[in-house]
Amino acid sequence: MHKKEFQAETKRLLEIVINSIYTNKDIFLRELISNASDAIDKVYYRALTDDAITFNQEDFYITISADKENRQLIIKDTGIGMTQEELENNIGVIAKSGSLAFKQENELKDGYDIIGQFGVGFYAAFMVAEEITVISKAFGNEEAYRWVSKGTDGYSIEPCEKEHYGTDVILSLKPNADEEDYDQYLEEHTLRSLVKKYSDFIRYPIKMNVTRSQKKEGTEDEFEDVIEEQILNSMVPIWKKNKNELTPEDYEQFYFEKRFGFDKPLRHMHINTEGTVSYRAVLFIPEKAPFDFYTREYEKGLELYSSGVLIMEKCAELLPDYFSFVKGVVDSEDLSLNISREMLQHDRQLKVIAKNLKSKIKKELLDLMENAREDYEKFYDSFGRQLKYGVYSDFGTHKDDLQDLLMFHSSKEGKLVSLKDYVSRMPEAQKEIYYAAGDSVSRIEKMPQTELIKDKGYEILYFTEDVDEFAIKMLNEYQEKPFKSVASGDLDLDDEKDKESEEAEKEHESLFSNMKELLSDQIKSVKASKRLKQHPVCLVNEGDISIEMEKVLSSMPN
Ligand code: ADP
Ligand code: MG
Repeated sequence: MHKKEFQAETKRLLEIVINSIYTNKDIFLRELISNASDAIDKVYYRALTDDAITFNQEDFYITISADKENRQLIIKDTGIGMTQEELENNIGVIAKSGSLAFKQENELKDGYDIIGQFGVGFYAAFMVAEEITVISKAFGNEEAYRWVSKGTDGYSIEPCEKEHYGTDVILSLKPNADEEDYDQYLEEHTLRSLVKKYSDFIRYPIKMNVTRSQKKEGTEDEFEDVIEEQILNSMVPIWKKNKNELTPEDYEQFYFEKRFGFDKPLRHMHINTEGTVSYRAVLFIPEKAPFDFYTREYEKGLELYSSGVLIMEKCAELLPDYFSFVKGVVDSEDLSLNISREMLQHDRQLKVIAKNLKSKIKKELLDLMENAREDYEKFYDSFGRQLKYGVYSDFGTHKDDLQDLLMFHSSKEGKLVSLKDYVSRMPEAQKEIYYAAGDSVSRIEKMPQTELIKDKGYEILYFTEDVDEFAIKMLNEYQEKPFKSVASGDLDLDDEKDKESEEAEKEHESLFSNMKELLSDQIKSVKASKRLKQHPVCLVNEGDISIEMEKVLSSMPN
């Protein structure tokens, strides 16, 4: 037997978990059950895809048992199990260290339940246990190991006996304290209701021995207690249920359980399609971007099942990059279990599903924009940039899918407006969609180039993000109205050029040519303009690349 210290980072996280003041301690059970279910998924998949392995469906289950005398709660599974190394690596260190910093940053914000929503998995069990023993035997191995830990100071590990592969997690509950009742986790009704609440959809049976009172045989009114095994969960995954049976909370619960995000989802979509390819899906549109969303580390994808069997945790082929924020699961009977990653890319069925999902997501977002604008604004605040990149990427091939989803700040409203909003209120005489690019709304508002256009009662879109103008250049026009920068030289507003300015140009010819000479490196010409109201002078540009775009382009690494 050898003893090991936890790594420093693990220690810190453990302390946060164990001493956290917000306390939905209940969720420890959900975490352990979901680990058990994941472990069974893995062995189940192997058994299904390897002809050399014979198995029975009945071999895969989870049991919960309470030992009141010793104050122990035991969760067992017949999953893939862990080798000695895996015990040390998987539950001895934190796998996703990036999430630690994130948790600390966000911890305790408005009583935000980080653990409940983001999850620390296995460690949650230390909220209720003073000591945890894990006995595990990896599938296909002979040896079993016992891992024991009291929490922060480390763990010990030694070989032991275990007949069947799988994992037993034994929690020695903390002593009851004033406000904390840990004994409740030994009670049948508490365990039953926690399973119902958090783990009902787990696809393997969660069994527990329950006591039932029944009439004694051969008597009229004598009763006796019998112990019988019951399955606590309904085992129907949420996507196989009927929409009408489900509440918004059920979907939220599923979102948390699956660790799709730390926020509440803005919208869920429950899809059940039959046709060339049949599939079911539950998708979510999150409210907030994950901390790594705009980095290379972020991995898009949906969980992919074939007839209820998990075949891939993040199937990227199901989502276009511009919808990479969507989370969820897809289950289809028409996919082969043995499908490999390489084959997936060419799978016709999968392509049909992906195309179908894409249009459904777009429809959902449009609906959100039309009918729940405030929610759409929240969404757009998090993911608008991704949509704009989408317009710009792949030479604009997705612009038709995305243009209706775009929004920009505008001179008319103190909030974001869609292109449709803009065009719908264009005065008859206005032929183009005007925009101005700058660092911020307040800066743009001070731009002299905007004066004449605003004066004419025309609305101006304000581009404050680098990507905005690039995306718009890709669109070129919206509903046949071309986009026009207020900083372009040829604004073509009919009263811009008239006698007066021609005369002014003549009158000040020498001034203009002096200015031109002085600034010869920086400008091409000096002209009189009626475009200005409050400001004496402004810069305009000729050609396609605006001053703002030039700034972005010149700041890009070559
Ligand atoms: P997560 O489930 O998010 O990976 P956890 O802290 O819950 O994080 O678990 C860490 C890892 O420990 C799991 O990824 C898995 O490899 C392993 N593990 C935990 N519980 C079990 C179990 N019952 N059977 C097999 N492996 C397990
Ligand atoms: Mg887990």
